[in-house]
Amino acid sequence: MRIGALEAGGTKMVCAVGNEQGEILKREVFPTGTPDDTMPPMLAFFEQEKIEALGIGCFGPIDPNKESKTYGYITSTPKLAWQNYNIVGAFAERLHCPIGFDTDVNAAALGEAAFGITKGLKNSIYMTIGTGIGVGVYSEGRLLHGMMHPEAGHILIKRHPEDSYKGCCPFHGDCLEGLAGGPSLEKRWGKAGALLTEEPKVWEIEAYYIAQACVNYSMILSPERIVLGGGVMKQPVLLPLIREKFTELMAGYIRTQELADMESYIVGASLHDNQGAMGCIQLALEALKN
Ligand code: ADP
Ligand code: ZN
Repeated sequence: MRIGALEAGGTKMVCAVGNEQGEILKREVFPTGTPDDTMPPMLAFFEQEKIEALGIGCFGPIDPNKESKTYGYITSTPKLAWQNYNIVGAFAERLHCPIGFDTDVNAAALGEAAFGITKGLKNSIYMTIGTGIGVGVYSEGRLLHGMMHPEAGHILIKRHPEDSYKGCCPFHGDCLEGLAGGPSLEKRWGKAGALLTEEPKVWEIEAYYIAQACVNYSMILSPERIVLGGGVMKQPVLLPLIREKFTELMAGYIRTQELADMESYIVGASLHDNQGAMGCIQLALEALKN
């Protein structure tokens, strides 16, 4: 079976074709311009590939609620050209196949749950720390939506006592994304994250923020495992520091088998940056089934 996958991002659109096993057979990348620039080549790609279903993991906020009048729309995104754009409608009109639609991070969470390191678990979280911070939640065997979808990169956290940087979230200033997303590193320290490897204070503060977020997610959602991905996690010192801070902040309050083994509780992404595309394949397979 030929399944289409679209990872719709703010800078690039990754279009792929895969099979039921989640294997990616073909991939093409288009830069994200306006819908008028970007939709035609994507439509042509999927049409030519003769896909039987499409899964879209999209930058947000989006409307994933099937009952809603604006289901399938990208809603209040700061990327103005895509605001209130009916992306599912545009593909449905041309491709006439079932379409699954969710956030980029929910898709990545699903990719790991279907094919990766959280396979077999009913409750897991995928957090990306990149240009933005986003969290996909897989709860009781399905993706969590609630009134819309979680936006758990914008939670409010305690400031590190040695951090006076004001934060760079355009909405909240010093929310988690404003204090710990990739751009905050560069704005606070004057250099991109990749060039700060030799500065221990940078990673102590960064780990403190990410660990707080993980503690909050654990307390609220009770995941059996937390997966951390995104560009900032490419910094190798970070993962062990986050586990250490998490344990410190948790202070022994929750005692489960999972938390007794931190190396298996907080882990890196396992699908070599294909978790998003593979999750889109799974979204498409689920749309086909329904
Ligand atoms: P996006 O979130 O835009 O999809 P990425 O997940 O690749 O993209 O994240 C990009 C962010 O990750 C940038 O802010 C970049 O500076 C940061 N980054 C990339 N590599 C590293 C690294 N080795 N250490 C720390 N930060 C990094
Ligand atoms: Zn914010």
